[in-house]
Amino acid sequence: MAWPLRNAAFSPGLPAKSVPGTSSSPILEIVDVTLQYKTPVSVVTATLGVTVRVRRGERTMLLGPSGCGKSTLLKAVGGFIRPVAGHILVRGQPVVRPGPDRMMVFQEFDQLLPWKTVKQNILFPLQISGQLTSSEAEERALAYIEKVNLTKFRDAYPHTLSGGMKQRVAIARALAMEPEILLMDEPFAALDALTRRRMQEELLELWDQIRCTMIFVTHSIEEAILVGSRTVVLSPHPGRVRAELNCRQFGFHNQDSPEFSDLRHRINAMLFGGRGREGTATNA
Ligand code: ADP
Repeated sequence: MAWPLRNAAFSPGLPAKSVPGTSSSPILEIVDVTLQYKTPVSVVTATLGVTVRVRRGERTMLLGPSGCGKSTLLKAVGGFIRPVAGHILVRGQPVVRPGPDRMMVFQEFDQLLPWKTVKQNILFPLQISGQLTSSEAEERALAYIEKVNLTKFRDAYPHTLSGGMKQRVAIARALAMEPEILLMDEPFAALDALTRRRMQEELLELWDQIRCTMIFVTHSIEEAILVGSRTVVLSPHPGRVRAELNCRQFGFHNQDSPEFSDLRHRINAMLFGGRGREGTATNA
């Protein structure tokens, strides 16, 4: 299938506010969405009546305990799962299938094609889309390889790269398609703490350059506050929206501030009540 590659309204390099034709209307609307898995013996309700609206250029974090339906919600935005109730709209159009306007990055390191080099992995979806000449695709791939600081490794195969480098390739591959929305499913969860921190910083630097709309699933309270401009807190299974919190003012520069700490405690209390666990929402 030939997918349109570029969308007229999104152009990396331009701050979101200066993109022509954008307004305060949401780019993504998730309205009263219930998602279920049906097996021959049971029905599992993953999310129940979830409503989230996302504006262009926002970094929206989906935060909640394991099993509350974060990944399922992301897959539904990706067009891999259809709601049993409610609807999901991108630029006012219902999401009915996956498309290049919504590219996904996963947690797993094996999401790259092992028989292709870094450059070939990034080129592959560009070539399949059929919208660019081979020299344009090559130029685009190299530009995004540079953005994730992997120019020296462009001819390396995935098995020779560290976990963090593989995730950079996956991010570059998704961004090279210049999607309307970047969907990230716990992309740094399998990394060691130091690499995770560096990747979070790099992602924010990259976002500063391209200002893409991002939906990011995490079960780390700290990651949500640091990386997000807004955090949607979901309740335990089945996931419902418990709160939407503005995180715009927080970042690495003020993570030791009392305000940062207050927000962390507030979210912790929402997720765990008085039970005192803090940091990740894994076992609530
Ligand atoms: P989270 O990302 O918040 O950890 P998930 O979206 O992965 O949660 O899962 C939400 C619920 O749906 C869980 O109860 C999980 O067991 C269930 N679930 C996930 N995938 C499937 C599947 N393929 N078949 C049946 N149930 C599933």
